[in-house]
Amino acid sequence: PVPARVIDGKAVAAARTQALAQRVAGFRERTGVVPGLAVVLVGDDAASAIYVRRKARQCEAVGMRSVQHVLPGATTQAELLALVERLNRDPDVHGILVQLPLPRPLDEAAILAAVDPDKDVDGFHTMNAGRLALGRPALVPCTPLGCLLLLRELGVALRGKRALVVGRSVIVGRPMAQLLLMEDCTVTIAHRHSQDLAMLCREADILIVAVGIPGLIRGDWIRPGAVVIDVGINRVDDGAGGSRIVGDVAYDEAAHVAGAITPVPGGVGPMTIACLLENTLAAAAAIEGGAAA
Ligand code: NDP
Repeated sequence: PVPARVIDGKAVAAARTQALAQRVAGFRERTGVVPGLAVVLVGDDAASAIYVRRKARQCEAVGMRSVQHVLPGATTQAELLALVERLNRDPDVHGILVQLPLPRPLDEAAILAAVDPDKDVDGFHTMNAGRLALGRPALVPCTPLGCLLLLRELGVALRGKRALVVGRSVIVGRPMAQLLLMEDCTVTIAHRHSQDLAMLCREADILIVAVGIPGLIRGDWIRPGAVVIDVGINRVDDGAGGSRIVGDVAYDEAAHVAGAITPVPGGVGPMTIACLLENTLAAAAAIEGGAAA
């Protein structure tokens, strides 16, 4: 068997980020406006703090403004809503990102619903999910958008292909399926209750996995030559007293069968932030009426 082409998400993300920096510079020149991203973090979750810092750093690296709002874990729903309202009205803020998960008892759905859909760079607002479901222009969640961009980067024709999305979360699986439908794929969505997942996988030309179970998808489930995009991020024991990050696909097995495959780490992960930054420029362009390109 021919080893799969490894899809280098890190390199694709770096190239897109570089191109984005030039687009941001052009936008600033034309409009005099610096795109601004507000990131809201509630509580002291260590992983969330790392993500938020990374987002802010990369935002500034491409010439956009980033403002971090770090609130104590005991913040009330009313206080958080007041901040979101303030950011909705702030003309210097074009993108608002509320880092999830929010600590209990904050009502995540109500907070996400309060974000101005035009500033909803995570694409989690009902308005954007609805627009996407209708096949209309929308701010699209960053991780599935990143997966689509990786597929485009491969240059494989998507029209008419059988695509299987494993996982139906609001953040990844559902919007991913909508995006593939817009690309004219024949889309199947699998979840916890799907029968014979192996058989569904074997039928897929394009397999996107976003579940959160290490090695769930085995090599012999994969159709020879299929494109495999592994969204999973799972920390597992490395057998030497430490830990390492693996995806939802048994990579070593799959790499002998698939035509192309994303590694974990270094596949989908780096694309997510790149897409967040692209969404922020797109939001700024829509709000300020300047072309994003
Ligand atoms: P969720 O836990 O929200 O959703 C998981 C989905 O997998 C659910 O739809 C669930 O089905 C389905 N599922 C669970 N068990 C099975 C099974 N045995 N067979 C088939 N389907 C199953 O996770 P997310 O979508 O948020 O994330 C998925 C993975 O992607 C995680 O590892 C996460 O860390 C990673 N991730 C990576 C990102 C990145 O690269 N930047 C960003 C976001 C997530 P049901 O709906 O029936 O419960």
